[in-house]
Amino acid sequence: MQKKELKQMENVLLNRKEVLLRELEERVEKYRDTNSGKMTDIAEIASSSSTDELEITVAEEDARELKQIEDALARIRAGHYGVCEQCGQMIKKARLKAIPFATLCVSCKEEEEREYDEKATQMRYDAEDIIDKPEHGETDEIDRRYLGKKIIELERDDNRN
Ligand SMILES: [Zn+2]
Repeated sequence: MQKKELKQMENVLLNRKEVLLRELEERVEKYRDTNSGKMTDIAEIASSSSTDELEITVAEEDARELKQIEDALARIRAGHYGVCEQCGQMIKKARLKAIPFATLCVSCKEEEEREYDEKATQMRYDAEDIIDKPEHGETDEIDRRYLGKKIIELERDDNRN
């Protein structure tokens, strides 16, 4: 990829990162409202010894994408952006334009998806099962269990892109 194109991708990633951070801030804001007085700002939540609150707040699509964007920006800085992590071939520009943080070329991605599909579906059902049946007074426990699954999902997804 040419320097000019890399710069463009970097800008795309940085812009998207800003949007996501704003959304994340709003999410924390909302979380704070529903947990009146428990936490006062992002820094405090982040430095809290109990990271549950932050993790629950961020363990969503936004947070996952944010991490992928950070990783992509790191790859740009390291000079190996756009190289498939699996086979080492250049990822097609069209794919990078569609998914700027892609780490796998199309064929490696498809390969991985076949491998993980069944397992991912199963986990999705497990998670929904937990969310659909919150019982009074058990919310914290449910959140933790859900979060555990969510984190596993996030980690797996990291390997997939
Ligand atoms: Zn590949």
